[in-house]
Amino acid sequence: MGYIDILNPSTGEMIGSMEEKTKEEVTLAMEQARAAFPSWKELSLSKRLDYMKQLREYLVEHADELVEKIASDTGKVHIEALMSEIFATVDFIRYYEKNADSILKPKKVPTPLVLYGRHSEVQYRPIGVVAIISPWNNPFQLSLVPAITALTAGNTVLLKPSEITPLTSLLIEEILTTVSFPEGVVQVLHGGKKTGKHLIQSRPDKIFFTGSVATGKKIMAAAAEHLIPVHLELGGKDPMIIFADADLERAANAAVWGAFTNAGQSCMSVERLYVEFSVYGAVISRLKEKAEQLRIGNGANDDVGSMTSPRQFKVVQEHIADAVSKGATLLCGGKQLHDDTLHFEPTVLVDVNHSMKIMQEETLGPVIAIMPFSSEEEAVRLANDSVYGLNCSIWTRDTKKAERISRQMEYGNICINDVMINAANPHLPFGGIKQSGFGRYHGPEGLLSFCHSVSVTHSKNSRAKDLNWYPYEQDQLEAIRKILHTLHGKNKKISPKEIKELYEKLMK
Ligand code: NAD
Repeated sequence: MGYIDILNPSTGEMIGSMEEKTKEEVTLAMEQARAAFPSWKELSLSKRLDYMKQLREYLVEHADELVEKIASDTGKVHIEALMSEIFATVDFIRYYEKNADSILKPKKVPTPLVLYGRHSEVQYRPIGVVAIISPWNNPFQLSLVPAITALTAGNTVLLKPSEITPLTSLLIEEILTTVSFPEGVVQVLHGGKKTGKHLIQSRPDKIFFTGSVATGKKIMAAAAEHLIPVHLELGGKDPMIIFADADLERAANAAVWGAFTNAGQSCMSVERLYVEFSVYGAVISRLKEKAEQLRIGNGANDDVGSMTSPRQFKVVQEHIADAVSKGATLLCGGKQLHDDTLHFEPTVLVDVNHSMKIMQEETLGPVIAIMPFSSEEEAVRLANDSVYGLNCSIWTRDTKKAERISRQMEYGNICINDVMINAANPHLPFGGIKQSGFGRYHGPEGLLSFCHSVSVTHSKNSRAKDLNWYPYEQDQLEAIRKILHTLHGKNKKISPKEIKELYEKLMK
């Protein structure tokens, strides 16, 4: 059995350790999840939602203590833990309480005239046991929101949160136990990569993965062995484009917040900023001034907390060093604040180009790199020059220009005069394109992505034989030909009454 150290990244203290789940324990958890599935899926939606409501009320009532614990595990400042971890999770639960019934209920759909006499509908069925593997950057919300979504749809869940934030993993388990979901319905598997691999080998019916591109590829390969469907929510290198006619003060504030909130460790952080040449000087001086004013630390009035993952901390240092060695200029920041903690100064880089890692690879830290552009075409080309396609933002007062540019953006989520906000709206589908992954969660599509869509045709025909059944006869061929021409030929129209008459004649 392995152990995981628990580090407080904002103090550098080791505050405990946590046992990793073994292969045998993962196998047992899978058996329990399978055993729990039939009765959980048969439970009415409203009874399932009663558990979610209890969870929501618990989260709101205990918000302060949860924020405290999440902050000590991640190094986030409290306002960010409250907004992006607790508030976001609760908003999603409320969304399902209000909307799951209409999303999940069977939908009648039209039936083509040639299939006369039948009724058609789509039913949504849970998939089975869903494995959720989550990252450390919003470890609470990115574990619970997919879990709640899968559970609402009637699946049972095996959740493996990140080993980088083990306190949050224990916290989630404690909360789920308090809400007392029926045994086996949702279980937390503490551990790292090995536990994740055991989980996939235990053959869940679906894998919902949030994490890096590199791990996403491994998970997809492992899932392919057993043809397990995979949903991948991966990294980003998100661009922001500021045109000269934008509200520059709001845009600069958004850029600073988008780059440095959560110490820059959001998949949708603003990592690349492209500014129209005529306002480039004005924007970079605003950004430098605003970044330098940010208060770093974990007190109640601090703005930027510590980073969370020692591994990511090294990536940030490596990307800055690579950029500077290739000619970039540090406008501010660039250094670790204390030797023993993961606080890193908010960093603004200029004189960058696309040969640098800082403009190509995900940095996931408190760094923004800024480049000027001189035409719409150049802005679009630079913003799309990425293997990632998660989120982007466009800043202009010209609505037509914003629409024109947004149509050309190769991104799954687009903000106009705003940053990072789409993921916070439960009504909007969320997900990436290109190497940022595939599949959509959030919104109706997200809930349905945890279901099989099952098509049901109900025939009301009492005839012994149908239009194209055996034995084939000449008049059948003629009838089908006639129906084809009258339904789909040039200038031909046929009424339901005529179709019925044709059928009746043929079926006599
Ligand atoms: P990671 O890929 O290192 O780890 C993610 C999870 O996968 C962890 O729980 C880890 O233990 C597990 N894991 C690692 N190897 C595994 C394996 N071989 N088999 C099974 N499980 C395995 O990612 P990370 O560093 O924890 O998270 C940061 C990444 O997540 C960034 O790229 C970030 O952009 C991305 N992210 C994406 C979104 C999104 O919605 N698109 C949201 C948040 C974070």
